[in-house]
Amino acid sequence: MHAIPEAHGATLTRHEHHGLYPKAASVADFERNLATVQSRMAQACRRADRDPGSVRLLPVSKTMDEASIRLAHAAGCRLLGENKVQEAHRKWEALSDLAGLRWSVIGHLQTNKARLVARFADEFQALDSLRLAEALDRRLQAEGRSLDVFVQVNTSGEASKYGLPPEEVEGFVKALPAFGALRVRGLMTLALLSTDAPRVRQCFALLRTLRERLRQNAPASVQLDELSMGMSGDFEIAIEEGATVVRVGQAIFGARALPDSHYWPDASDHREPA
Ligand SMILES: *Cc1c(COP(=O)(O)O)cnc(C)c1O
Repeated sequence: MHAIPEAHGATLTRHEHHGLYPKAASVADFERNLATVQSRMAQACRRADRDPGSVRLLPVSKTMDEASIRLAHAAGCRLLGENKVQEAHRKWEALSDLAGLRWSVIGHLQTNKARLVARFADEFQALDSLRLAEALDRRLQAEGRSLDVFVQVNTSGEASKYGLPPEEVEGFVKALPAFGALRVRGLMTLALLSTDAPRVRQCFALLRTLRERLRQNAPASVQLDELSMGMSGDFEIAIEEGATVVRVGQAIFGARALPDSHYWPDASDHREPA
């Protein structure tokens, strides 16, 4: 075989490989998986002519137990992503002995659970309504805390996905300076969960072009530097399209017991048949 460097447009998704990630069962397993992901990130950066230091890896620990998270921490993980706030809060309490461990909530949040996020989270990536922004701000002010937030955008057009439709983001962002405890960092999206790489890439490109457009007249207190996009199956494509944060679970921790369709109800519809 010829060692032809992969052309940009040819990077594939790896969603079909999810079931193959072995469970990380030791600190050495975590170190190896982290090194592998970092090296794939660096290669994607090189293909896109980007500085590898411009992309941050957010390990996602949802469904993983305490023992597994302790190993990840020993391997150097300090900020972990969780998509359900109650699970995240439970882990925050149980693992409070681990030095420097911080939590990023990356999944949809009901307004009545804003209080929990305000108490312990360092980052929230799924802001998608003004009611929620208002509730978070009020709870944060009461706790004397502030929170880094990302506005979630629905770039796939799927009805089951959370996030604002792209055309509503500009008006939404203009209203955010009213909430002083929220530090707006950028945009977040979940691409179509599909093995169809060009359609996945379109979702990421849409988030980037939206960000470029919004940046031109965003309020001064709103930063739109960050693009959180890409997960185990598609983070290389996301980096080629400008991701500054990739959220990676299974490629670090091992496959989850539950299928993706548990988190994203229509995910299985887009899979190739096995
Ligand atoms: C679970 C999850 C991820 C990570 O998915 P993996 O397939 O485990 O890499 C990324 N983002 C969100 C919002 C998630 O819920």
